[in-house]
Amino acid sequence: MLRRLCIVFFLGGLPMSWAQSSFQFMGQTFTPGTVRSWMQPVSTSALPMTVIHGNHAGPVLTLTAGIHGDEFPAIFALQQLAQTIRPDRLHGTLILVHLANLEGFHGRRIALSPVDEKNLNRVFPGRAEGTLTEQIAYFMTQHIISQTDYLLDIHSGSANQTLLPHVYSPVMHQAPLDEKTLAFAKSLGIPQIVLYDERPNDPAHSISYPNTAQTRGKPGLTLEVGQLGQRSKEDSALIVQACLNAMRHLNMLDPSAVIGSALVASPAQAKSQPVLYRKLVEVSSPVTGIFYPLVKVGDAVVAGQVVGRVDNYFGHPLQTLYAPVAGTVLMQKETPPIREGESTTDIGVLQ
Ligand SMILES: [Zn+2]
Repeated sequence: MLRRLCIVFFLGGLPMSWAQSSFQFMGQTFTPGTVRSWMQPVSTSALPMTVIHGNHAGPVLTLTAGIHGDEFPAIFALQQLAQTIRPDRLHGTLILVHLANLEGFHGRRIALSPVDEKNLNRVFPGRAEGTLTEQIAYFMTQHIISQTDYLLDIHSGSANQTLLPHVYSPVMHQAPLDEKTLAFAKSLGIPQIVLYDERPNDPAHSISYPNTAQTRGKPGLTLEVGQLGQRSKEDSALIVQACLNAMRHLNMLDPSAVIGSALVASPAQAKSQPVLYRKLVEVSSPVTGIFYPLVKVGDAVVAGQVVGRVDNYFGHPLQTLYAPVAGTVLMQKETPPIREGESTTDIGVLQ
């Protein structure tokens, strides 16, 4: 009896389990305790997907990687999760989109699809009769977002970009949704959260993938971990950790739901208080040329501080770039090419 009481206490954060029903998804029936991976055809492309339907009732959480083709760490993080989450101990349902933009991935493209030169994260909610990228967005809106309760879209710095790990927590100016979204963002255990209210409220013109969830009343976050088109194990491990932290927050996991000590979420990390930023301010280059960053991600800068320089092709200085505001450098371009109007440095302004 004592042992049983201890177990009940240990799982105190979890809701009472009740009979789980089957999950209908993409024309398939997932009975409780099912794990299934498949290539889901979408127009002329396909989405590699896994669904883990737990034995116990709970929310539906969608984790997505590869919206942008050269942002790799999340792809490996989702593979680890798919191979280690135990459905018999899972509360709710996990939908994993392992790679949302196969053409961009194999084309080694920054942000755009080589098929139609469109950015998947700028064409939501998509169009049924549109280009391939628009059709993928439409499919994800109709079949994935419609079925999910919480969405986490995972990105990295592209091949030309460094960044400090951060989460975008959208602000819709709708109190219950905003509170739920921020609590979800804090649960990841990522030290930097950017509150973001620059996306439209119109579900018909939601633009980004997470905002498509938000405009349908569902928390949708963007997580940024990793940089320079690399696939570091540390970055993938941090993403796995963040996903497990979120799942614990949503009462989807108990400590035996995953296999392997490396995948056990760190309570200390999950409890640390993140730094909140009220917005991101871009430093754009007014000229085309060769960029030299003069600060690093993580640096605190003051207004008026030099953050970079642009030279001409003969090595002569064209333009000095200054921080317009005080804050922390969260993202920066690190490679030499820069065009007029492109952002070089993104500064997070404290809440
Ligand atoms: Zn991205």
